[in-house]
Amino acid sequence: MDGAGEKPDDPFAARREQMVRLQIAGREITDPAVLAAMREVPREQFVLEPYRQYAYDDTPLPIPANQTISQPYIVAYMIAALELRPADRVLEIGTGSGYAAAILSRIAGEVYTVERHHKLADYARERLSRLGYANVFVHHGDGTRGWPEHAPYNGIIVAAGGPTVPESLREQLAVGGRMVIPVGRSRHQQNLILITRPAEGSYTEEMLVPVAFVPLIGDEGW
Ligand code: SAH
Repeated sequence: MDGAGEKPDDPFAARREQMVRLQIAGREITDPAVLAAMREVPREQFVLEPYRQYAYDDTPLPIPANQTISQPYIVAYMIAALELRPADRVLEIGTGSGYAAAILSRIAGEVYTVERHHKLADYARERLSRLGYANVFVHHGDGTRGWPEHAPYNGIIVAAGGPTVPESLREQLAVGGRMVIPVGRSRHQQNLILITRPAEGSYTEEMLVPVAFVPLIGDEGW
């Protein structure tokens, strides 16, 4: 798909390029597929109209339902940690605006994304389809249960923080797969955890960085 970033008349192209150079490549994200995806996806299309001018700032921004579109750097950081390959199947929990799902769709084969707010799921589905991201599938529901119909997933990315790692998500991770998830005892402060599954019954866990995500609300969350 041709991204809006490649159009010569794109008024945001220079700001997008600068965002990638300073905030992403400038902070040691080196994965070429992640950098290319960040250069291609028009973040201004995923924020509310009054915030378009801030779309490439180094910050999260408000979206409807009192939620946020994540800071570009954390999106790139989490996706790079998944070490995805082109044929991979990915599960995202917390579709929000659909921005991270659009980035994932440029890097992996199929993206399954779950959002608990009905309106956000509808908006994201409409937006992703309008912009031509045909390999993203949006589901309205409780993502702490995952999306078992399409499991197992080579990568799982959770964009909201819960008290523990949902058991359903562990089970839906493919052997050899990688999951990144914010986990913490407070609803607004977490540590980003990387989980791998080297064999059927074995998981590893590594703490990456402290983060501040919106709460993961559901049966296996808050
Ligand atoms: N990836 C998003 C960021 C969304 S913020 C983007 O790029 O814009 C996190 C989202 O997680 C919010 O939209 C919130 O509604 C959602 N969320 C919280 N708990 C959830 C759950 N149990 N299942 C699915 N989505 C959930």
